[in-house]
Amino acid sequence: MQKGSEPRSTAQATWSAEAFQRDAGPVVERVRKHLAQAIARDEGVTRGFPSPDELLRHIPGGFQDAPTSSLSDFVELAIQRSPWQHHPRYVGHQVSPAIPRAALLQLVAATLNNGMAAFESGPAISVMERRVIEWMTALVGWASGGGILTSGGSLGNLTALLAARQRKAGFDVRDDGLAAHQPLALLASDQVHYSIERAAQIMGLGRRAVIPVRTDDRFRLVPDDIPRAFEQANASGRRPIALIASAGATGTGSIDPLDPIADHCERLGLWLHVDGAHGASALLSPRHREALEGIERADSLTWDAHKLMSMPALSTAVLYKDARDAYETFAQDASYLFHGDPAGRWFDVGLRTVECTKPLMALPLYGCLATLGVGVFREALEWGYDLAREFAGMIEAAEDFELACAPESNIVCFRHLDGDAGEELDARQRFVVDRLREAGTFYTVKATLRGKVYLRTALMNPLTTREDLEALLEAIRVA
Ligand SMILES: *Cc1c(COP(=O)(O)O)cnc(C)c1O
Repeated sequence: MQKGSEPRSTAQATWSAEAFQRDAGPVVERVRKHLAQAIARDEGVTRGFPSPDELLRHIPGGFQDAPTSSLSDFVELAIQRSPWQHHPRYVGHQVSPAIPRAALLQLVAATLNNGMAAFESGPAISVMERRVIEWMTALVGWASGGGILTSGGSLGNLTALLAARQRKAGFDVRDDGLAAHQPLALLASDQVHYSIERAAQIMGLGRRAVIPVRTDDRFRLVPDDIPRAFEQANASGRRPIALIASAGATGTGSIDPLDPIADHCERLGLWLHVDGAHGASALLSPRHREALEGIERADSLTWDAHKLMSMPALSTAVLYKDARDAYETFAQDASYLFHGDPAGRWFDVGLRTVECTKPLMALPLYGCLATLGVGVFREALEWGYDLAREFAGMIEAAEDFELACAPESNIVCFRHLDGDAGEELDARQRFVVDRLREAGTFYTVKATLRGKVYLRTALMNPLTTREDLEALLEAIRVA
């Protein structure tokens, strides 16, 4: 198109700055209104909670050459039919109410849409990624650490375990594969996130290669049980190469005792991977990082910024104590992308990630750290952690509620003691979760812990207050 000429095709019109301008005003205004409504608690967390089949009736398929919806109708549909995570009474999954500025920066990222695999495809964002990684490794306490950003904690755990396997297998898994070698094993507590079992499946180790280590009454890994699990692996013919510790565990937010775990790993020659997808953000708080003592002794760490740093999904750091270990995951020659010796090529981030093309997750993260400062992240984290302790106190003080365990992060699991024992009580918790969601008053989730069903709340929103949680207990009682 010539400068100043009118677009002549629908495609040209669709890609024009004028089209963007026409769309952006109303959409941004609608998002602002959504935030205002959610935060004001004027409306429910959900507008009913339709079944998958009911939603299929509300969300038509059958696209055609011409549009089948207006933009405003479509945005309305998406907002109205989704749970509102910015609502202070959304206390369900560990998904964040994205920082509104981060959501805006996501728009910048989505528009630039650089490729990211090699420096040439996303130069500035690759350097931003390095700055974010430097900041994170320094928080862990690693002088020569390194790492990358990747698409989620599940992929992050897999990526770190691939590096662990290459370093600890005793043979070259990358080149030779697993055939004709002794089977390998991973040790992990019975509370570990399911992505660890999946990683074992993807890595060709099989689920049975994950040998469980016992947990205590607060769902934390028992370090003294590690030698037994190690022996169990050996006795079954598998050689243990790594131990995965949780900080915190997905179910209860419990934090495994990392220092004594690191002692065992050192002695047994195990790679220590800390799954901090949920709780590594506590490194931001001098008060709460104490519970993570020993984290600096890990070989690798997964840290989700889309959880307790409230980034839009997905935004995950995989960090290594030794920056060079990141290159152990994959050493491949894709000469059209990467040239020369990999170890010196920190700026080609795709050498160390499963992804080739990758979202520009460093942009909102770097952007918020730079333009908001670190303090607000610390404040939000401490709010959630402190509120969880307060909430646990309220539950303990109530006769008709039972706490699963004292919270160690921002997750609180508890039960409503209404009805008979056993199955009935489990059914009661399930009923309550469904009932509150359908009414839109609160969004909580369930967790099954040692065979019993609990209500599970993750306090991710700095706008959730003690009063909201008092109202939650009352809503449960009358549900
Ligand atoms: C959330 C979580 C994961 C998975 O991370 P995703 O980003 O959802 O893929 C892994 N481990 C723990 C401990 C988690 O809390």
